[in-house]
Amino acid sequence: MAVHDFRSQRLFLNADLFQGADITADRNQANYLLNVLRMGEGDRLFVFNGRQGEWQALIHPTGRKSCRLIMEMQTRSQPVPADLTYCFAPLKQARLDYMVQKATEMGVGRMVPVITHYTQVRKLNGERLRANIIEAAEQCGILNIPDLDAPVGLEKLPERLGDRISLFFCDEAQSDACSRIENKPANGLAVLVGPEGGFSNEERALIHSWSNVTILGLGPRILRADTAAVAALTLVQSKFGDWYR
Ligand code: SAH
Repeated sequence: MAVHDFRSQRLFLNADLFQGADITADRNQANYLLNVLRMGEGDRLFVFNGRQGEWQALIHPTGRKSCRLIMEMQTRSQPVPADLTYCFAPLKQARLDYMVQKATEMGVGRMVPVITHYTQVRKLNGERLRANIIEAAEQCGILNIPDLDAPVGLEKLPERLGDRISLFFCDEAQSDACSRIENKPANGLAVLVGPEGGFSNEERALIHSWSNVTILGLGPRILRADTAAVAALTLVQSKFGDWYR
């Protein structure tokens, strides 16, 4: 990972990737490579599909807005996805885009939109979220594309996560609770961040009634939800996740 060339262009493709695979880029991707990046015959880039690692590909233009990509060699194998789920109340557009990009960069394996009392956005554009996830992965050299669940009501969250998962509950009302996360939970991890309006007291009581819940405090200031996402995932990744060796 450390010796990887992060300056090179990376592109997500849906197609299967293998030695010699000859893939026609879609029109938008071809236009981007040929006319925005001004790449041409013989140029190389990295491609990935979230399943078969990363490949060095050779560009072969076939028109002004069309090209083929030929897989030359695998440069990284597909890593095991992180057992880290990010549960969040959907926010309005720009902040939501930011939040899913950052969660992807922070290495989550799965994202679960959770509808709470004060959630302002209840209808999600899954395609847009996925495009944001892919863009972040392309930029940061992430080979695992996090799964994006359909939204779930807060009361159904434990069922959705299953009983194998330890939930870190970011509770703005108990922001001094940081010291409580000392022992690494044995099972998969999830982080829950609320909407801009925070959690209601009934929701707080409900979450505390679930098993495997740990309060995660994020300091003496109230953070906006998108900031809370980065702060919480940093804490969890650095203490228990793949930053922790
Ligand atoms: N409107 C609420 C704040 C909501 S902040 C209020 O004024 O109290 C949005 C979400 O970010 C919260 O639901 C919580 O999950 C998380 N969050 C923000 N600051 C936090 C903190 N200091 N400790 C723990 N979680 C926090």
